[in-house]
Amino acid sequence: MNNIEEVWTKTIEAIGAKVGSQTFDLWFRPIRLVELQEQQLVLEVPNKFFKEWIEDHFPGVIPETVEKFLKKNISVKFRIFEKKDDPALKKIETKQENRRAKLANRGIFLNPKFVFDTFVVGASNQFAHAAARAIADAPGKAYNPLFIFGGVGLGKTHLMNAIGNKIVDKQPNTRLMYAPAEQFTNEFVYSMRNDKMDEFKTKYRSLDVLLIDDIQFIAGKSGTQEELFHTFNALYDLHKQIVFSSDRPPRDISPITERLRSRFGMGLIADIQIPDIETKIAILGKKSDMEGIQLPEDVSYFLASRIKSNIRDLEACMIRLGAHSSLTGRTITVEMTKEILRDLIHDEEKALTVDYIQKHVCEYFDKKVQDIKAKKRTRDIAFPRQIAMYLSKALTDCSLSEIGKNFGGKDHSTVIHACKLIEERRKKDEELDRKVDYLIKKIKGN
Ligand code: ADP
Ligand code: MG
Repeated sequence: MNNIEEVWTKTIEAIGAKVGSQTFDLWFRPIRLVELQEQQLVLEVPNKFFKEWIEDHFPGVIPETVEKFLKKNISVKFRIFEKKDDPALKKIETKQENRRAKLANRGIFLNPKFVFDTFVVGASNQFAHAAARAIADAPGKAYNPLFIFGGVGLGKTHLMNAIGNKIVDKQPNTRLMYAPAEQFTNEFVYSMRNDKMDEFKTKYRSLDVLLIDDIQFIAGKSGTQEELFHTFNALYDLHKQIVFSSDRPPRDISPITERLRSRFGMGLIADIQIPDIETKIAILGKKSDMEGIQLPEDVSYFLASRIKSNIRDLEACMIRLGAHSSLTGRTITVEMTKEILRDLIHDEEKALTVDYIQKHVCEYFDKKVQDIKAKKRTRDIAFPRQIAMYLSKALTDCSLSEIGKNFGGKDHSTVIHACKLIEERRKKDEELDRKVDYLIKKIKGN
């Protein structure tokens, strides 16, 4: 088979058979073939969300299938379908991309879309927003450090970037660094191994502003904690601004050295709560304008009332709707929304599932869901697994043996054992008790 069009048709058919028609219609049918350049297949998708979704859920499925027909190694490049119809939006995007590139050249990796102008303020985030603004206006002078915490997808990264963007706009020469804690850790480990600690120290300790996102990541990483502690002290003594974000408050980051924990709370701690429905609707309004999506009021209301606790999900739904509507030429309606978003919308009445609990527990303990579901017996996985079993018993109607089945085929006595163990430990260990409460709240979505 040589003709690439023909290969693509076959590929798409084969993928359809593999992933099921619903997934196929939603995610694969809209992909357009652009061309084959030597070993690289160029494809067009409606937006970056498609690209990410396919890469997350079906990594490798396209190149693997194409390779079968072409009998050679193929890599895939996704191109985003250009918004040809709205020159104003395109102009803004080009401007943002230029700015992003210019900053990246200086080692500053900020998202140009995450600015204060695009951040909707409501009761849930008012305090964190005000603190962030104060810091952007007077870095190193207002509160130091600022520690922002809140659940997944509630705007922490957005606020951190907004602080960064505002500061470099006002004072272009500021030495600023935005880094997820994971990156800080990786750089630290790399520098240790490659005898580059001096460079690492110079880089981080000569900053004017250091923004570290998702700091909970350093729990259990003692070397990184030690280095961060010294970085912190060096910057703090020079009145340089430090901002941390985390998915939980300092007291729940564990294990971590007490001296570092106490540093987190030395300035101001601000939390972001789950937004109320009006705030969610306002966010949808702002985002749909930015993306050029016509979102009727009743759809906005429907989405905002159904998607409880994560603005990222809310946005993802909207983008999917926009893509669907632009591809089919249909206007967005509540009916269409229900049809398309069946799997994304978390139905209020829908009972909690063991899978859902496992997902949250794994996210919290930074483990893989496959591992918790497998027979694996290592210690580090045993504890999260016991917690997940305990929560499954407490929060679902599943029987003990049904629960056991979901954890690598354990029998009901293993589940009973886990439940008793966690129950006992909750009584004795205050920190664990708090963690479990936190997880329950999160899983229930409030
Ligand atoms: P977190 O870092 O807390 O997990 P993000 O900052 O990545 O969450 O936010 C997820 C998405 O929700 C982003 O696209 C962000 O722009 C959007 N978002 C969150 N809060 C707001 C808000 N108050 N106004 C506008 N967009 C928001
Ligand atoms: Mg984030």
